[in-house]
Amino acid sequence: MAAPGFLPRPDFQHLLTALTAAGYLCLGPKVRDGAITYEELGSTDDLPRGVHDHQQPGVYRLQRDESPRCFAWANGPQALKPLLFAPHEVLWTSAAGSDGGITFHPKKPEALPTAVIGVRACDLAALRLQDQHFLEGPFPDPHYGARRRNLFLVAVHCTRPAATCFCASTGDGPRAESGFDLALAELDEGFMVTAGSPKGEILVGQLPIQALDPAQQATADGEIVAAALAQQRALPSRNLRDSLFANLHHPRWEDVAQRCLSCTNCSSVCPTCFCHAETEEPALDGLSSTHSRQWDSCFTEGHSAIHGIVIRADTRLRYRQWLTHKLGSWHDQYGRSGCVGCGRCIAWCPAGIDITAEAAAVCGGDHA
Ligand code: SF4
Ligand code: SF4
Repeated sequence: MAAPGFLPRPDFQHLLTALTAAGYLCLGPKVRDGAITYEELGSTDDLPRGVHDHQQPGVYRLQRDESPRCFAWANGPQALKPLLFAPHEVLWTSAAGSDGGITFHPKKPEALPTAVIGVRACDLAALRLQDQHFLEGPFPDPHYGARRRNLFLVAVHCTRPAATCFCASTGDGPRAESGFDLALAELDEGFMVTAGSPKGEILVGQLPIQALDPAQQATADGEIVAAALAQQRALPSRNLRDSLFANLHHPRWEDVAQRCLSCTNCSSVCPTCFCHAETEEPALDGLSSTHSRQWDSCFTEGHSAIHGIVIRADTRLRYRQWLTHKLGSWHDQYGRSGCVGCGRCIAWCPAGIDITAEAAAVCGGDHA
């Protein structure tokens, strides 16, 4: 890939113009309802200029200052997940024929070419995990696959981690290393731009890119290194599998169950959680039905209901399932932990439950 170049801030609109001309719907960060979410971008004026996020366990607040930067925040509640794995979608419909037979009509996957600007390293790592789950097993998901093929990803390296972030300890950030079409490092005066794919190289060729001053590169690199050093949280180890399964009867599971509301916020905001439920909705005339998939969570009672028996009937068992799967048996399924250190489950938990603290309490020093 070509060496990075420099895109002055006044020319940043050219990126949106080039993506739009290439046929992409441009999504990027905007402030909505007091949080940063991915929305359709009309122009770079829509970006959250001077906006920073303050996150703590159970706390997410936005603050503003006079900074020219548009990406000086860590993350919002929304990762890439809902753009690819839809919160709710129809998979097929069925209809009864006059001969008494039933015909099934799969819903054709639909996907507009979509460019997402501002993707973080942790979310690229989560996307890689979701790709493994939805595309690389024996039954690739056509809906996810159609959206994934039409995606153009513009990553932005993190320079301002929240207090809830711990991607440095999971090895997933704050620098976006791979999995993007373009990567940006934001400086006050503009952006260091690096292409990460042939599509990205073509797009860079359409931008008014200037030579990058070595001092600008040093500043950009230094800010990313400082962002890693500034992180206040860490998991005890990147592989807690054996330690978690050796502690299935640890008293901490009961302790966390006293605080956990089984609300499902953590699994909803988690960029790697993929549990879902499927429902069949018959029409009132009894002649047709609609089969849908929607997000579910291991914190719901119904998720573990098998043949009329709820396997995980209380919160202790549900929280334990979440943590031992996320940080434990993911290693068996996908070759790594299911946590990319984004910290969303910490900030968006109404009880302020902190996965790093719970993992440390259960595993203690009993891990590799
Ligand atoms: S478990 Fe929490 S910190 Fe880890 S990826 Fe999911 S939301 Fe992010
Ligand atoms: S850990 Fe927090 S966010 Fe997750 S289900 Fe329990 S209360 Fe809700």
